Amino acid sequence: MTRGVVYASPENKPAVEELTVESPGPREVVVRVLACGLCHSDLYVLETKGWGLRFPILLGHEGAGVVEEVGRDVTSVAPGDRVVIAWRAPCGECPQCRRSDSRRCSSQLRARRRLHRAADGAVLTPVLRCGTLADRAVVHEACAVRVPEELPVEQAALLACGFSTGAGAALWATPVREESSVAVIGCGGVGLATVQGALLAGAAQIVAVDVAPEKLEVARALGATDVVDAAAEDPVEAVRELTGGRGVDFAFSAIGAGTGLTQAIRMCAYAGTATLVGMPLPQTTLDVDLYADVFGRKPTIAVTHGGDTIPQQDFPFLAQAALDGRIDLSRFVTSTIRLDEVPERLPRIGEGGEIRTVAIL
Ligand SMILES: [Zn+2]
Ligand SMILES: [Zn+2]
Repeated sequence: MTRGVVYASPENKPAVEELTVESPGPREVVVRVLACGLCHSDLYVLETKGWGLRFPILLGHEGAGVVEEVGRDVTSVAPGDRVVIAWRAPCGECPQCRRSDSRRCSSQLRARRRLHRAADGAVLTPVLRCGTLADRAVVHEACAVRVPEELPVEQAALLACGFSTGAGAALWATPVREESSVAVIGCGGVGLATVQGALLAGAAQIVAVDVAPEKLEVARALGATDVVDAAAEDPVEAVRELTGGRGVDFAFSAIGAGTGLTQAIRMCAYAGTATLVGMPLPQTTLDVDLYADVFGRKPTIAVTHGGDTIPQQDFPFLAQAALDGRIDLSRFVTSTIRLDEVPERLPRIGEGGEIRTVAIL
């Protein structure tokens, strides 16, 4: 039997329902999902009454599991392989991919929608082409990324979205240079992963900024060299002071509010880089002084989507870094729950010091 968390219509609350699964088509694989993290984007689907997707919607996009069945022409994975399911897989054909710049791919390989609600046969729209808050997912083989089985599956799942988004921002989207200085605004799961990415990149100074002291403590444990309590002091002033008045080479805003990116720009040293990692809500605006903050400070202002990863090379790299103890994924899994608990827990993710809540299927 296959069950999954279905968001049936804008008025309904998500609920666990029975599903049916079609056989995989060419280059498609069926993954038996074993773990799926609850990511803010799934909550965003509820907050925006569907995120523009067609109902009914199958939630989940931070999953890992084992390949159960493969369709025709599948060559990269076989039944039994442990995989992380990527929501992004460069297409190989768009102009960016053709010029070997697939981190900027504007398209994605995708499987057909092959899961249905058992009750009425309605085809489900999986969030970000994944729908991994279900026992099974059907994805394009390029989205099924093999990782070592030694990595606990609830940690592997985080590579699918939250961790890779944060770490990838610092490693690949706007690569942090060795010995440089970094500030990370917002120490939720994604911001803490940015701290870990900056650590892997060899940053000399990593300043973590948040309003919650307990999150700053975790940031310190994960590699931050300095912390700033933004509830107690002005974070821009504090970061300048910590860097001898110069500012940081790289500043990341891992919050959705516009103040995060504004502060990131103002924290930059001359010709630094300010990167937006957190997803803003519609109609969020920026309040920057074009003369002093932008022209005068000359920052590069960048955006990353999911850490701009190339999953087939980056997920195994991060999995190995975790196995080698160079990053600590275990610290990110603060609770594990059953699939039946997801509808009730999803609206409360991040509360009470939670970093990542992971459903075990
Ligand atoms: Zn492409
Ligand atoms: Zn996500």
